[in-house]
Amino acid sequence: MAKTKTPKYVYFFGGKKAEGKSEMKNLLGGKGANLAEMVNIGLPVPAGFTVTTEVCTYYYANNETYPKELKDQVLKSLARVEKEMKAKFGDKKNPLLLSVRSGARASMPGMMDTILNLGLNDETVQALIEKTDNPRFAYDSYRRFVAMYGDVVLGLRPVDKHDADPFEEILDKKKESKGITKDTDLTAEDLKELVAEYKAAIKDKLGMDFPENPMDQLWGAMGAVFSSWMNERAIVYRRLNGIPAEWGTAVNIQSMVFGNMGEDSGTGVAFTRDPASGENVFYGEYLFNAQGEDVVAGIRTPLPIADLKKDDAKVYKELIGFRNALEKHYKDMLDIEFTIQQGKLWMLQCRVGKRTGFAAIKIAVDMVRQKLISKETALLRIEPDQLNQLLRPIFDLSEKAKAISEGKLLAKGLNAGPGAASGKVAFSAYDAELMAAKGNKVILVRIETSPEDIKGMNAADGILTARGGMTSHAALVARQMGKVCVAGCGSLQIDYKKGEMRSEGKDIVIKEGDYISIDGTTGEVLAGELTTKPSEVVQVLITKEMKAAKSPVYKTYADLMKWADSIRTMKVRTNADQPDQSANAIAFGAEGIGLCRTEHMFFGGDRILAVREMILADDEEGRKKALAKLLPLQREDFEGIFRVMHDKPVTIRTLDPPLHEFLPHDAKDIKEMADILNVPVKKIKDKLESLHEFNPMLGFRGCRLGVSYPEITEMQVRAIFEAAVNVTKERKKVLPEIMIPLVGHVNELKLQEAIVRKVAKEVFAEKGKKVNYLVGTMIELPRAALTADKIAEVAEFFSFGTNDLTQTTFGLSRDDAGGFLPRYIENDILPRDPFEALDQEGVGQLVQIGTQKGRSVKENLKVGICGEHGGEPSSVDFCHRTGLDYVSCSPFRVPIARLAAARAALLHPAAKKTATKKTVAKKSAKKKK
Ligand code: PEP
Ligand code: MG
Repeated sequence: MAKTKTPKYVYFFGGKKAEGKSEMKNLLGGKGANLAEMVNIGLPVPAGFTVTTEVCTYYYANNETYPKELKDQVLKSLARVEKEMKAKFGDKKNPLLLSVRSGARASMPGMMDTILNLGLNDETVQALIEKTDNPRFAYDSYRRFVAMYGDVVLGLRPVDKHDADPFEEILDKKKESKGITKDTDLTAEDLKELVAEYKAAIKDKLGMDFPENPMDQLWGAMGAVFSSWMNERAIVYRRLNGIPAEWGTAVNIQSMVFGNMGEDSGTGVAFTRDPASGENVFYGEYLFNAQGEDVVAGIRTPLPIADLKKDDAKVYKELIGFRNALEKHYKDMLDIEFTIQQGKLWMLQCRVGKRTGFAAIKIAVDMVRQKLISKETALLRIEPDQLNQLLRPIFDLSEKAKAISEGKLLAKGLNAGPGAASGKVAFSAYDAELMAAKGNKVILVRIETSPEDIKGMNAADGILTARGGMTSHAALVARQMGKVCVAGCGSLQIDYKKGEMRSEGKDIVIKEGDYISIDGTTGEVLAGELTTKPSEVVQVLITKEMKAAKSPVYKTYADLMKWADSIRTMKVRTNADQPDQSANAIAFGAEGIGLCRTEHMFFGGDRILAVREMILADDEEGRKKALAKLLPLQREDFEGIFRVMHDKPVTIRTLDPPLHEFLPHDAKDIKEMADILNVPVKKIKDKLESLHEFNPMLGFRGCRLGVSYPEITEMQVRAIFEAAVNVTKERKKVLPEIMIPLVGHVNELKLQEAIVRKVAKEVFAEKGKKVNYLVGTMIELPRAALTADKIAEVAEFFSFGTNDLTQTTFGLSRDDAGGFLPRYIENDILPRDPFEALDQEGVGQLVQIGTQKGRSVKENLKVGICGEHGGEPSSVDFCHRTGLDYVSCSPFRVPIARLAAARAALLHPAAKKTATKKTVAKKSAKKKK
């Protein structure tokens, strides 16, 4: 009989060799895989083993039980750990102590549970005393273990936020009875008493004994860690970060090493580069005679890592060596944890470090310059939306200086998340959510944050904490969310009960709802509201207040964009309808206008009066008279745009919105309009009545306007062609593309096309000069996509209007969906708002069908997208895969679209060819028939 292979559930690491490696993150979780990798590259890691994520999946699928093979595999690996560490689990003379920690595929800081010092009991603690000759240390470890186990495994913890922690309460009483305030003043005897009191509390409140048997402790802890995968904060975190519940967590069981074994011991956390600014400096903090949790929890304020050089030069040098080895091996910025136990350095964790968008860009670009990674890798490492952080506002410096000179600088903390934010103070996550829901900008102010606060942090614009370092919860999570954050602002005194905050030495009192401003780039906290100012990139490119050579930030941006442009195959255009917007978009790298909404021009200056006159006209003659007034104004607008867009294509759309949008609706405005135009109020009211539609978005709009009133199209295209000829005569190259909106049937397009070509001919004859131009259409109705082959017989280009296409495919009003769509996202009915990220499965199919059908008639038909999705990274990726020629988006999203297009080209190199090939194959199949 063939022997079936026993599934492997446990992976050992330690000594010189590990069973796992960094590529095995799905199975071993990020922590386990990287512990194995560090062993494999020769770094000192306390031995241990990882119980795989498959066990977690099994655990939940099988009524919280384990696979039968697990026990034996755990015991075998434990024996290897004992051998490696030369100690025995539960031994009365030389006990091995363990830590038990979670470790999912993606990091979920602080969301799940951890147990330290496992294996201690009344007997092993004696051995620890003998071994270390330090009873205080031994009992301190023991009482921490009992409290942690009592809370995490046995469930003795506060019931709600008003309830005190039962173990903290006992500790506080003990200190009070001894007349001391600091934990460090507790004697070994005090700590020993605490152990007994903690155990008594467990017995009293839970009716059970604390487990003395180390093996029972181990299985209890493992179960608790697996269970913590499903605790509420982990579930919320997963939802916010798109982590599927099926992934499960691994559990890492590892030998303890102690950073609190005396003054030659310590612990620290570090980043191989600055995670906020991206500077290439070793960045971290450490504490002597402390455990890891002391650094992360922000209970004691740690020292900067550079100080370790004078405190322990040997360890510092070794650590720098590890830093370099790790960066060279992983070719990325890493976040590490280490412990020094009686002078020996141990590595406890390494993972790719979380960083701000700002730092992500700097690190990636610097690593290319250092030849550590290729430019392709750099592009793939940066999420396009992270570019926002480079384009983000900063405070107006003079305003800030003035506020400081007026004594408004409240405090200075750590610059944990760059950018500038001003908002109203909320002292709890709950209030932050409430205030933000009312439309306020909010700064969440906490003594320190905990995983329970994530919803409030998400709702806030900025986060300020009084305690904790660069690696505290607030700092880590804020960076991940891309929020402005100032952490560890020690001089702040926050009183939750009174709902107020003071700063040492200042007499300003900040109450809930008052404005403060925080600068996450410098760490400054100011009272009051400050105006924000454009980023350096914007100052160089747009406002021109700064020279490119003076801004390293700009240089980084420029390099990255240059690489993106050398790789992407899709063009990036912009949606703009003013010369200044067009100029901004060009500065951001736009290669043309993909959508100029002519109606936006109708609102400038006196134009609206002529438009209204046109709408009120009783007949064609009256309309033409009013349109004649608009003609020179529109021509001027187009001239301005053509001049700025010299040499680049400009897609101009004919009138699209329902006409009632141009008329006033309230009585006062109607009266004013009647007076100006010298018409009776009743006439306007009657017109409004006649224009009333039950469903204007599906009503008299788009090309339907031009079909009923051809003179509108005539005037608009005349303005376009006259402007085009005039600007051509200024020796500028003009490439107009006339786009007809909301076409559902090819015959609509035919009618409009005829007008365009007729007017073009007339203008060219009158002016004695021709300009090349195209006539195309928007594809924004399902029928247009489905009959795109017919439409392509007339159209010279397609541009997908995915705003309307989403509206009409879902049958979901884009103006009214805001009332109920959020619930669709909350309840996972839709993964994302389809007006923000293209619904690839549904609406996307119409884009694919439209493109393929169009190109089955015109092989090289130019196809683009100009809906809001054109600047959204996942939609840009889809457009690349579908073989579109360009995306068009608002000016400030142009850099994001350029980067997204480059990443799409790297991830799907054959996409364009394949998309076209399919079309050609279909075409030749058709021919053969
Ligand atoms: C669209 O529908 O996607 C589009 C770009 O047009 P508008 O938003 O002006 O309707
Ligand atoms: Mg539209």
